Amino acid sequence: MDMRGLTITPGTAGSLRLAEDLPEPPEDEGQVLVEAVAVGVCGTDREIIDGDYGEAPGDGDLVIGHESLGRVLADPTGAFQAGDLVAGIVRHPDPVPCPNCAAGEWDMCRNGRYTEHGIKGRHGFARERYRLEPDFAVRLEPGLGLAGVLLEPASVLAKAWEHIERIGARSVWRPETVLVTGAGPIGLLAALLGTQRGLDVHVLDHNTEGHKPALARALGVTYHSEPVSEIDFEPDVIIECTAVPSIVLDVMAKVGPNGMACLTGVSDPGRRNQVDAGALNRELVLENNVVFGTVNANRRHWEAAADALARADRSWLTGLITKRVPVASFEDAYGDGKGEVKIVVEF
Ligand SMILES: [Zn+2]
Repeated sequence: MDMRGLTITPGTAGSLRLAEDLPEPPEDEGQVLVEAVAVGVCGTDREIIDGDYGEAPGDGDLVIGHESLGRVLADPTGAFQAGDLVAGIVRHPDPVPCPNCAAGEWDMCRNGRYTEHGIKGRHGFARERYRLEPDFAVRLEPGLGLAGVLLEPASVLAKAWEHIERIGARSVWRPETVLVTGAGPIGLLAALLGTQRGLDVHVLDHNTEGHKPALARALGVTYHSEPVSEIDFEPDVIIECTAVPSIVLDVMAKVGPNGMACLTGVSDPGRRNQVDAGALNRELVLENNVVFGTVNANRRHWEAAADALARADRSWLTGLITKRVPVASFEDAYGDGKGEVKIVVEF
């Protein structure tokens, strides 16, 4: 039976289309047969659609979609029951494997030969049916419903928080304040995980109206729209989610004594900023600061994220999904997304 799915031709800008003739997922893709409920849309999808990124498993087109929510149709291994809500882990270990992939920490792959669903060398989840290996499927709390599509972005933040805590453990570590820059889905999920740790969470974003300040306030955090440099305290932790170069630099300078700046955004290269590197270095050294980047997530983080979503306020989480688009109208989902938090395509 042919299936529908969203495909692109890698390297060809504007080639996104709704294919109607995709083959059923081959058995060697995995034992767990899943029907798509929804996929989330993010900046990586837009880069792939623009032809900047993306690699098919063979010579042909790539099925996109890496933020998944699906319903299990059948699992002969018995790990999952028909009807279970699941998400597929995006990254798979490299074939060598490197020491990190060999230990299940493919998020820390050393050689870059990992593969990723919907991004690099593996078809994505924006198709009616797909298959998952049981070890790469994560079960969601059934009551989450559509909000389960937030598991992939939440896994990235679960990793960020784990690394913050591991770095913090280098000395006595009793953080109180967290500043999150950017109130998109990544920033708001970073803030959620901060509130779940009992911290005093602040979110900064240039938007003064619309979904972003409303969602931050509904979470019970303090919302700022002034520049980072004008914030009147020095945060113990800053999670940077805007990727705006000037904000990244401000964040490094702003973080408090023994504190850390966790960078999660991917900036476009090429913009040069004037930096007093001597002053920045002096501050980082004299305050024992750590600046680190983080990307992707391994199974431990996906499970921590599933737990965090299960404990979150259901209506707040669902509120992060500000636009729902049926797959037949997919073009409405992959525009610039201005003003939206999370856009999802529904199957
Ligand atoms: Zn590796």
